[in-house]
Order: sequence, then C-alpha cells, then structure tokens
Amino acid sequence: MEFPMSDQALPAPEMGEPYLLTPGPLTTAFSTRQAMLRDWGSWDGDFRAMTRMLCDQLVAMAGDREGAFACVPMQGSGSFAVEAMLGSFVPRDGKVLVLANGAYGLRAAETMRYLGRAHTVIDKGDYMPPRGDEVGAALDADPEITHVFVVQCETSSGILNPVAEISEAVYARGRKLLVDSMSAFGALELDVSRIRYEAMVSSANKCIEGVPGFGFVIARTEALEAAQGNSHSLALDVHAQWAAMQKTGQWRYTPPTHVVAAFLEALRLHAAEGGVAGRGARYTRNRDVMVAGMRALGFETLLKDRWLSPIIVTFFCPADPNFDFPRFYAAMKARGFIIYPGKLTVVDSFRIGCIGQLDEHVMRRVVSAAGEALAEMGVDSAAPPDAAIAERARLAA
Ligand SMILES: *Cc1c(COP(=O)(O)O)cnc(C)c1O
Repeated sequence: MEFPMSDQALPAPEMGEPYLLTPGPLTTAFSTRQAMLRDWGSWDGDFRAMTRMLCDQLVAMAGDREGAFACVPMQGSGSFAVEAMLGSFVPRDGKVLVLANGAYGLRAAETMRYLGRAHTVIDKGDYMPPRGDEVGAALDADPEITHVFVVQCETSSGILNPVAEISEAVYARGRKLLVDSMSAFGALELDVSRIRYEAMVSSANKCIEGVPGFGFVIARTEALEAAQGNSHSLALDVHAQWAAMQKTGQWRYTPPTHVVAAFLEALRLHAAEGGVAGRGARYTRNRDVMVAGMRALGFETLLKDRWLSPIIVTFFCPADPNFDFPRFYAAMKARGFIIYPGKLTVVDSFRIGCIGQLDEHVMRRVVSAAGEALAEMGVDSAAPPDAAIAERARLAA
C-alpha cells in the first residue's frame, strides 16, 4: 500500500477508507495522522516541551483557573488510566462505591476486585441512570465508603449520567468523586468550577480525536500529593508519574512519542473548532441529524431524548425477520461506514457513534446507507420488537 504523502487535509474516508462510527479509535483528521511522520527523542527538550503543552492545555480544558489541578498522562489505553486512578487515589484502606450502568462501570468494579480493595456496586443494569438521591442513601448507609466512581457517558449504551447531581450528593456527605470521562471529555462539560471531583480520566482517542496510545488523569494537586504510596503498581502509579514529570519534565517510561505529536495537532484542531463548546455542538448536530433520519426509517433509540448523549446512540434491531445484523454491518461497511454492535443483554441492538472527524453531511449519508441496507435485506419496517419497547418503558421518565 502506498503511503499517502499528500499535505492536503483530506480525511481518510476521502481516500477510500471507511468512516469509523465507533467511539474510539475513531476517524481522525489527516493532519493528525500526518503529525506522526516524525521521530522524537523522549528525553529531548523539544519533546518535554510537547508534554508540558499537552498537560497545560488539558488542565485548561477542564476549566481550572486557580492552578488547583494537574494533568498526568499515562501510557496505555483508557482502561490503564482508570486502573491507575483507582489504585492511586483510593487509599489501601479506602472503600469505593462504583456506580455501574453498563460495561465500563462494571469494568471499574472488576478493577477494584483485582486491586483487592474494598468496594460496593450500585448496578443499574444495562442503561438506567444512577441518581443523586440513591447515591446519597447508599453513602448514608455505609460510612466506610470514601470514594464514589461514576462514568460520565456510559459508552456501552450512550447514556449521559447525571454527574452534577451525583457530585453534590457525594460532597454533601464529605466523600470524594472519581470520574471516568473517557468518552465525554473534550465534548461535554466537566468544568471543575461547576462540578466538584478529585480526579477524572480520559484518553487520546475519544473526543479530542487523537490516535490511541495514552490516557490522562486530571486531578487536584492536593489529591495527587495525598496519593503517594497508595498504588499497587509501579507502572500505574499516578503520583510517581506526576512527581517524576514535575522533576524532569519526562514520562517515567517510554512515552508514545508519535501519539503525543498527533494529540497536539488534535488539540490545535479542537481549539480551532471552538473548544469544548464547538466540538460538543458539532457532535450534537451529528446526533440530531442521524437520530432524526434513523427514526424516519422506523428505527427506535434505546434511550429517551433526555438521556441521549451526543457521543454514541443505541438503536434496537428491527423485529422484521429479514433483518440480520451481520448482513446490515456488511452492507454499511460496503458503503463506507463501520458501525458498532450493541451491548444490551435483553434485546438485540447496535450503536452508531457521533464522534470523530465527521459532520452532519456524513451523518445524512449514514442514514441513506442504512435505508439502502434495509432495502437490500428486504426489511420493510425497521420497527423494533414489542419486547424492546417494553424494556425501554422501564426507563424512568
Ligand atoms: C473507551 C472507554 C474506556 C476505556 O477503554 P479502552 O478500551 O481501555 O480505551 C473506559 N471508559 C469509557 C466510558 C470508555 O468509553
């Protein structure tokens, strides 16, 4: 395969590659991929300056105007950063209340189990949102709980969890909040001046539209200082990574240099788009256009509009016996779109992501492709089975 050396800002899909309608890795800008064409020495001053820029910009994106927060990048995928956060900020004798309503909440609970640290779970099933009052009640009932873990956008259903009301319930009781903002940060607000938390994590390949290779923790410096000695893991010790970076400007172990270079370009594009507000607006438009089009074809969303995130949307598979997800997937791929299977346990579903280098024009083509795919399979109506509607009726208003 010939390597594309054009300096035109063409997204890969214009070169015949499919759009990734997946919540990371996602479709990145050509210039972001192009930024990886240079090798950097990890110890060199130029690369250390890049790391510093990256951290400064991410802390600013979190809305810290008082210098109370710091950013600590961690090598690995997002789950490595989640594990690093849980292992570093929760003292060994602490106890975590994990709020789960999908795969990522459950993964955090499993991480706690691996860490061998005390935890308890509120499991709301596939997609019901954990609410502030039930979190408050759980904390009142168990004074040993020191920390609460919440996923801002639970990517397995696409639900937007009510982090603000949960934060209020947590701090009203003197406990601390840890946030998995993996698939939200950069597009949805998690401003430290409005929502209180100790630490949050996200990664390079979600709403900031970089390529995979590292995650990052944004935490109160107070919490970072207090984290010394908590971690079970040398490589995942957020305090140690932070302390070493402060001292030397370097990552402790080999950094993903090309990924960092790409990320800085992605950050430049993010700022040019108008930051969190601009990016969130484009994703919202992507979702609105895509959901309206899919509904016009007869598809129904798992979630009511109130809980729909502009990140990824779950649709029920049609009841029509001619509908076959593997065929639907292949028909979408043949038209240039990679979609995502669903993760619901009760009814069949699939997901379409709204994030990455794509806009409403692309989303209109996604809807046309879905219509053609249905026609190809001989599906007359995309209406879901009654069981799906009954399932959805359980969702609180
Ligand atoms: C993507 C994601 C993660 C991390 O997943 P990795 O595959 O390890 O990058 C964690 N939580 C949420 C909510 C996510 O969307």
